[in-house]
Amino acid sequence: MSNTSVKKRIAIFGSTGSIGKQALEVIDANPSAFSVEVLTAHSNDELLIKQALHFKPDIVVIGDDKKYTQVKSALSGQPIKVFAGEKALEEVAAMDIYDMMLAAIVGFAGLRPTLKAIGNGKAIALANKETLVVAGDIVIQKALEHKVPIIPVDSEHSAIFQCLIGETRNRIEKVVLTASGGPFLGKKPNFLVNVKRDHALQHPNWSMGAKITIDSATLMNKGLELIEAKWLFGLQPGQVQVVIHPQSIIHSMVMFEDGSIKAQMGLPDMKLPIQYALGFPRRMANNFPRYDFRKPNTLTFEEPDTRTFRNLLLATEALNKGGNLPCVLNAANEIAVFAFLRNRIGFLDMTDLVERTMQELPFIERPTLEEYFESDGEARNFAASLIKL
Ligand code: NAD
Ligand code: MG
Repeated sequence: MSNTSVKKRIAIFGSTGSIGKQALEVIDANPSAFSVEVLTAHSNDELLIKQALHFKPDIVVIGDDKKYTQVKSALSGQPIKVFAGEKALEEVAAMDIYDMMLAAIVGFAGLRPTLKAIGNGKAIALANKETLVVAGDIVIQKALEHKVPIIPVDSEHSAIFQCLIGETRNRIEKVVLTASGGPFLGKKPNFLVNVKRDHALQHPNWSMGAKITIDSATLMNKGLELIEAKWLFGLQPGQVQVVIHPQSIIHSMVMFEDGSIKAQMGLPDMKLPIQYALGFPRRMANNFPRYDFRKPNTLTFEEPDTRTFRNLLLATEALNKGGNLPCVLNAANEIAVFAFLRNRIGFLDMTDLVERTMQELPFIERPTLEEYFESDGEARNFAASLIKL
């Protein structure tokens, strides 16, 4: 869009989640820059209806078919089309009614609609990291074919993306992903074995959806982000590294081949990377709280404890071997987190479940998209079979 007075038309897939809600706050604060054309929710019909009445999108999608009538009748009299079901997500993603998709569905469920959007030439603001973990090669290849920009929303990847602006011809030596360490930083297995869901859901720095909050507590989130970084920035596995930085002020860093390091900093607030991705390439003024260097503050860095948080080792193995292994790791992890959130398995069992599933499933070096879908399904079935009834 060359004419800056034209609004960017946004489709928010996963509008009732933590990222989706914060994106709507950003859009609400910048009504001349954006319009909302699509909102989708899995099951929270009440919030979806509220959002629709406020933002007046062209289309809403409710995942749960049983809630279609409620949503439809609440929005009757509005010029808003209502769709329901999983297939509708893909159909709407393929429609020519928006410019940019904010991919903010959680987990594997975000992959298909995002692929549809890319296939139809839509720019992607990508929060859903699982999309790249599951099928990064296919997603990136498709984006190249369709000349579709993928702008990261994940704070670490937004940081790296921002550090790389103006550096297109310069070689990256390595990328350093910062990790807060989560609520159990410094804890050992004898403590973790007794951790329950409510404790694991308390993150020190960020308020996020349940799945990513648990992933942050187990460090699987950082493992998924290693794989996400590899695909987004075309890196070799050895070029990505994790450092624990409990204050979450530096969001990540890039070291170039001359040893110079660029970091992107700010207070931990997801609205910043969300706004950056939606507005890219423009930065937009806002009144979010600012980091103040005059306040007493210490920024610290340490090695992750991978003997305790073994998920990071499993993810590194998946990163190194590639093929369908990251897809298998992700599927088993989704089952593990789901079971932990329902108090079906313990905190440390999550890692065992992922490890055993990775050992069990046949390795495929260059999977097709169909084979990724099959690996996902088989890994889920196997992981679920390990959970005692
Ligand atoms: P969330 O659980 O708060 O929200 C998820 C959204 O996806 C909801 O709108 C829900 O209705 C929808 N959804 C869930 N399951 C679905 C399904 N099967 N089909 C269709 N829609 C479904 O999650 P979140 O914290 O907003 O995270 C969303 C994505 O962004 C995740 O991939 C996460 O890793 C990533 N991310 C989140 C944060 C954060 O601060 N929350 C930061 C970085 C990356
Ligand atoms: Mg992150």
